[in-house]
Amino acid sequence: MKKLLAICPICKKPIYGKDIDINNIDLSRVSHWPVKYTHCHSHNGEPFHAITMYIDSNFSVRATEVSEFLKIQK
Ligand SMILES: [Zn+2]
Repeated sequence: MKKLLAICPICKKPIYGKDIDINNIDLSRVSHWPVKYTHCHSHNGEPFHAITMYIDSNFSVRATEVSEFLKIQK
C-alpha cells in the first residue's frame, strides 16, 4: 500500500502504508477502531523516536502522537 499515512512531526519523514506493513495487520484481531500503531525510526539525523498513529478502518490516520524517549526491550 503506497498511501501516505502521515508525516512525522519530528523528522518530517513521510510514512507510507508500506513502511508500517499495514497489510500485515490482522484485521480480525482489531476489536475497535481506530487502531494505534507505533512506528519507530531514525531519519534526517534525528535520534531514534516513535510516532503513534491512530488509523481508522479506511486506513486514514486520524491523529498522531510522538515519543522522543523510548526503550524497547526484547
Ligand atoms: Zn520521525
